[in-house]
Formats: sequence, C-alpha cells, structure tokens
Amino acid sequence: MPLSFRGCFDYFHAMPCIVLDSITPDTVTCAGYCRACGREHLLHAGQALELARRLMGQLEEHGRIDFDVPQAEADPRFGLDYLNGPARGQMFGVLAYRDARGHTGALKAFSCQYNGAWLVPGWVPPVVDAQVFARIHDPVERRIKALGREMGALPAVDPRRPALKQQRKALAQQNMKDLHALYQLHNFRGLTRSMAEVFLGPGGLPTGTGDCCAPKLVQYAARNGLTPTGLVEFYWGRENSSGTRHQGEFYPACPERCAPILGFMLCGLEGQGRGGAVDLERELDSNGVTTEDR
Ligand SMILES: [Zn+2]
Ligand SMILES: [Zn+2]
Repeated sequence: MPLSFRGCFDYFHAMPCIVLDSITPDTVTCAGYCRACGREHLLHAGQALELARRLMGQLEEHGRIDFDVPQAEADPRFGLDYLNGPARGQMFGVLAYRDARGHTGALKAFSCQYNGAWLVPGWVPPVVDAQVFARIHDPVERRIKALGREMGALPAVDPRRPALKQQRKALAQQNMKDLHALYQLHNFRGLTRSMAEVFLGPGGLPTGTGDCCAPKLVQYAARNGLTPTGLVEFYWGRENSSGTRHQGEFYPACPERCAPILGFMLCGLEGQGRGGAVDLERELDSNGVTTEDR
C-alpha cells in the first residue's frame, strides 16, 4: 500500500527562488556548517553536472524513471506522466563518487517519494528504512484521518469539535517527532547521529527533512565507503505551483531542510570546506592526476 506523506510536494513553496543558471563544475551546490569543525563543509557540482545532463536525456528517452529494468518489467507507477499531472514535477539529484579502489561512478536520487514509492530500482533508498517508517506512520495516519471524519460528522458548533481537533493536532506533531527520530545520519568520519541532534536550523525540523536528494545521496555514499566528488540537483516535470521551479534547471541544496544537516553529513571529506582547495590538489595528486596533467 503506498504511503502518503503529506508535505512531500508542497515544500517547494517555502524555498527561495535560487536558480543556478550559470552552473559549472566549480559551482558550490551544497553546503552546511559543521559544529565539530567550526566551519562549513561543501560539495561542488563536479562531474555530477555532466552526469545529470545525461540523466535528463535518459528520462526523455525512456519516459520512465525505472529505466534500469527492461521495458517488460517497467512499473506503471514510475512513468514520467506522473510528473506532468496534478502532483507536478520534483527534484532529482546525481552524486559523482570515487570508491576505495579509485573507481568512479554515480548515484541518482529523487526527492521524497515517487508516486507513493520510496524505493525504485536504480535509485538510492531513503535515509530512513521505508518499512520501519510505514510501520510507525501508517496506523497514526489512519487515526488522524478517522478523527477528521469524526469531526466532519459533527455540526460546526458541536462542543466536542475543539477537543477532537486538538487531539488530531497532537497526534500529527507526535507522529512527525517519532518519524524524525528514525532518521540516523552518517558522515565521513564514521559517526552516526540522529537527525534531530545534528539539525542546526531555528525551531523544529520541517516536514520532509532528510528526504531531499542531497541527504539521500550523501548518506548512501557515507554508508558504502564512497567519496563524493560532485553533486547536483535539478527539477523535472511540470513547474511547481508557485512557478519557482522549472524543468531542467539546477538548484542548490535547500536552506531550510538540507543546509542544517549537511554540515554534519559532509564532515570527514577531504578537500571540502572553505580553504580546502589545497587538500583537493593533494588528493588529485595522490590518485595520479597531477596539476600538470590537467
Ligand atoms: Zn533539501
Ligand atoms: Zn566537520
């Protein structure tokens, strides 16, 4: 049964309209302040830029996002028509990496869920275990909906309505806290922390924190011994309702949900952060690519 996680698609409204229209491999695409180091860690577009353009071509060519499986096994839920319907488009991300043996590769992610699915073949899984998420979320969601129906059946002036409304609100807030507690973030120092513990934003965690492409990709890399060398996020599908996101445009990691956790998540990467250019040179040298070669 598909999950419904409200907030998946409406969180673009709150985002400032920053378009990376002059993006190059050197553009900083995600960054966050790290409390442990007392400075910012960041990633550039790097090779992910070219790989993302290739991914856009694949989306256009196949008309579905599960193109890693043969056409005969394609899941109708994963067609691109979904992104042009009422749900509108969503964000996609690409992370270029180098593994422990020096081989390069790429990971891809979609933001939040795709048409109700957390898991699609060929795409990185969510930060949270989708089955555990469903086990916690689904029964509470059913209770919240039942309370809504109960309220709807009462006359507008019924004295029982405020209590039911309050009960529903408390349930929703507790549900969000319980769900956020399931998100355990990994970084490149081998540390694991709960998302609530590392979040550096004002107030509580916004709905959807940890479900954007950048945290999904960085989490997967950190857990699998892959060193990110670039990351980009782009929008695909019908423009969002506020008209701030358009198909094929690149956007930096969002300031509300991602920047407050990315400082912790990117900690331990060589050559990152302000003044990290020297480290990066050294890293390239150690892999046999000298400054003279480039
Ligand atoms: Zn984000
Ligand atoms: Zn750090």
